[in-house]
Amino acid sequence: MRNTLYIVVPCYNEEAVLPETARRLSEKLEQLISGGSVSGESRILFVDDGSRDRTWELIEGLAAGDSRFGGVKLSRNRGHQNALLAGLMTARAHCDMAVSMDADLQDDINAIDQMTADYLAGSDIVYGVRSSRRTDTFFKRTTAQGYYRFMKLLGVELVYNHADFRLMSRRALDALAEFREVNLFLRGVVPLVGYRCSFVEYERGERFAGESKYPLKKMLAFAFDGITSFSVKPIRLITLLGMLIFAASILMLLYSLAAKAFHFTVQGWTSLICSIWMLGGIQLLSLGIIGEYVGKIYFETKARPRYAIEQLLLKAPPSDRRPDA
Ligand code: UDP
Ligand code: MG
Repeated sequence: MRNTLYIVVPCYNEEAVLPETARRLSEKLEQLISGGSVSGESRILFVDDGSRDRTWELIEGLAAGDSRFGGVKLSRNRGHQNALLAGLMTARAHCDMAVSMDADLQDDINAIDQMTADYLAGSDIVYGVRSSRRTDTFFKRTTAQGYYRFMKLLGVELVYNHADFRLMSRRALDALAEFREVNLFLRGVVPLVGYRCSFVEYERGERFAGESKYPLKKMLAFAFDGITSFSVKPIRLITLLGMLIFAASILMLLYSLAAKAFHFTVQGWTSLICSIWMLGGIQLLSLGIIGEYVGKIYFETKARPRYAIEQLLLKAPPSDRRPDA
């Protein structure tokens, strides 16, 4: 089995940790190469996501000094997910498997041993899963857990306690490349790729140095992106609400007609109250129905691949037509 490994590391203003990250990763890579589990062609690929500090100069220095290091510089800051994708898509042309991880050494690089072992045993995707959230603040822990539950409720498949520390085989990367969506939420897309997967537990540490590049505002935007990129359930809720209010309006209609019949209303109240309830209900219901179509259009514009074939058993003379034609 071919076994060239690329370790892809997105970096945004990471000058404080980069030298240490590079040192530890190259040690790890040497160890994997001499152990024979990955080939000598393996590389560590840093992606500079439009940093404003000396990150790119450091990457240039590393690449000049040692051919095991490579760098990709994005034209400007495009965010973690896009930087990661840029790195993975660059690696795809050269590697048999790619591990993605953060620059801050929060992910335990020793888990890469098990990841490559799982790959060699036939897994296409190996998810790094945090065994506990002890190093997180109470706030981050509870919001994160609530988020996973909420996403599950909305029918989005996420791997619990998995960030973007994972190994993907080349064919999984090829399948990922077929996803053309612009609002990228890799944690939701990768499970859609399919193929054989496995999980490696690791203990997540503190950031080695520097500050989190995910302030609350970015985190909320990221979480919201995850919901709206994968689920039309919020639209369904509007439809449901419309139905409920419409049903309630019929009860109100009966009640106000009865009230009028027994003369304990003022002039004009019955018609007003009926219109308010009925129109409100009908409007919400219509919004929900329009929303259903908007949701359909939304998913159509994503143009997601409808399938990826894992194996084909077919004895037939070679065809010159494309399999999907
Ligand atoms: N990152 C990036 N672009 C951004 C923000 C972050 O490439 O716009 C990188 C960052 O350098 C790090 C990884 O994404 O390698 C995760 O960021 P961070 O560790 O700050 O997030 P946290 O662990 O605090 O959630
Ligand atoms: Mg981090």
